[in-house]
Amino acid sequence: MIRALLFANTDTNGEMSRDGEMREKVNKFESEPVSYRALPAIAFTNSSSSPENRNNNPLSKASQILFYQYVEPEWSKAKMKSVLGFMRQVGDELGVTGRGRISQEGANCTLTAKDPHSAREFCNRLRKFDKIFEETDFKITDMVEHSQRFKRLTLVPKDELVAYGLEKEKAPSLKQNKSKHVNAIEYHEMLKDKDSVVIDVRNHYEVDIGRIEPPEGGATFLNPEMRNSREFPKWLNLPETKKQLEGKRVMMYCTGGIRCERASALISQMERVGDLKETKGIAMVRGGVDRYLKTFPESGGFWKGKNYLFDLREAQMAEKEGELETTSKCCACERAWSKYEGKFVCGDQKCKVPVLVCDGCRNVIEANTKKNSFVKRQKKGSNGNTWIANKTKSDDKNDPHDVKNLRCPLCKVGKELRSIEPVDSAAQKRLLTLEGGNAKINASNKRPRKESKTLFIGKLPLSVTATEIKSALKLNDDNNAEIEWMMDSKSGFFYGSAVVKLASKDRCRSLLEQYKKDPPRIQNKFIAVGYFDEDWKNKNRKKMKEKEEKKDNDAKEDGGKKRRLAEEEYKRLFRKGERPPVT
Ligand SMILES: [Zn+2]
Ligand SMILES: [Zn+2]
Repeated sequence: MIRALLFANTDTNGEMSRDGEMREKVNKFESEPVSYRALPAIAFTNSSSSPENRNNNPLSKASQILFYQYVEPEWSKAKMKSVLGFMRQVGDELGVTGRGRISQEGANCTLTAKDPHSAREFCNRLRKFDKIFEETDFKITDMVEHSQRFKRLTLVPKDELVAYGLEKEKAPSLKQNKSKHVNAIEYHEMLKDKDSVVIDVRNHYEVDIGRIEPPEGGATFLNPEMRNSREFPKWLNLPETKKQLEGKRVMMYCTGGIRCERASALISQMERVGDLKETKGIAMVRGGVDRYLKTFPESGGFWKGKNYLFDLREAQMAEKEGELETTSKCCACERAWSKYEGKFVCGDQKCKVPVLVCDGCRNVIEANTKKNSFVKRQKKGSNGNTWIANKTKSDDKNDPHDVKNLRCPLCKVGKELRSIEPVDSAAQKRLLTLEGGNAKINASNKRPRKESKTLFIGKLPLSVTATEIKSALKLNDDNNAEIEWMMDSKSGFFYGSAVVKLASKDRCRSLLEQYKKDPPRIQNKFIAVGYFDEDWKNKNRKKMKEKEEKKDNDAKEDGGKKRRLAEEEYKRLFRKGERPPVT
């Protein structure tokens, strides 16, 4: 702790938190994304410039680049191919290696560069190649050992950036996603809130060796216990999961942030169609655990254990001293263990996830495996010599050191999600398209209307009451607010629109600002809210006339009626009352 304090005092990025005795170094700079700004400079220490200190000089070390970028609407196949080609060409030119998935959805890469300059050059070339990469939050780590560099560059075209089974028409819209990215510092504060749940959207074998552990009296931790990401839409479809999310602020995190993008979009979509009752908002940490740990480099914040990585660094952890508070175990002998070594997998045929095997057990298993493969060869060669085979332990079902008997923690307790139906994301998406998408988007993305002191509200359920509207719009205490139903005077029908007259334009504006942050809902559906255009009558007169003349056929169409409110109807548009009148 003393070391931490000294460090904090000398670090310009450092901030002291006022948690009483728990003071920790907070690296504010690391919590911010690099989108639309210069990439972080190479950090030289005072001693690194001297030649005898080659070991501290970032220029003599390799660098790592982690990034992902979703695109919506998705790239055409040709565009995707050109991105792939460009990355390969620039990668070869600059000596950048690693792995990446390229899809019409975007790109997700874990790369290494031979030095910090080529790492930055690679990112800048991408930015020049396509504007979309200006938006990308490139995470560059310098001082990486050359031994941890990838040997070659492998970029593979895929259907999805993360294999959720949510491709194409099943993909919940990212643009309509109401979830928020928050920086690591805000996220850290949110974890103290008891009205929050925090979902670890990584696989169980990752969660096993390290995870966020919210403070006592803080958020509730939820581990979906997945074997792979395809199980996430299944877990979300469980009634007990939905119950755990309802009425809570839903927080989530993953390694670098990418898995939260589609995952949060799915939760947001479920909420918009009413498959999930109202939450208190959805939040994900920008840059994932990676940025969270860099923001709290010494204490690790509320992180406990190791951050499982898919690159050659294997795992990342906070610098804090002392033993890891890990609860993970060797799957063969149950002693505390947290290193995935030797590429062992669960012996259950349907599972096959990585399992933890301690050094001791690994030696025994490897010796066994060698012996067994030798015996198998013998058996084959001597044409059914069972005498040798009998002498091996390969058929012993109880031998914990037989690779076939290794079981992951989920298989040990018989947990599985694979037989559950996933959320029907495609159907939900169709429904939202029919209903005109997200009310929030409608309210904020339409060309701004002229300010007025009257609000227009649309997409109301037909059974709505004035009380419901007032409460959704937070107007319960506003005696000036007057609701008037909009009726189609020809048919006399209520089509789900109304106006609310307010005391002033200022009042109207401040309410709309409020609704942007917290879009109003009635009976679990978002409603549309905006300024009511008081010049509507004049503007529409000409348009309506033309339309009338052009197509009388519209009248036969159901939806056409809504759009065909003619000028003379306007006079009789508004009626007051608790319920829209039934004719
Ligand atoms: Zn062991
Ligand atoms: Zn298993």
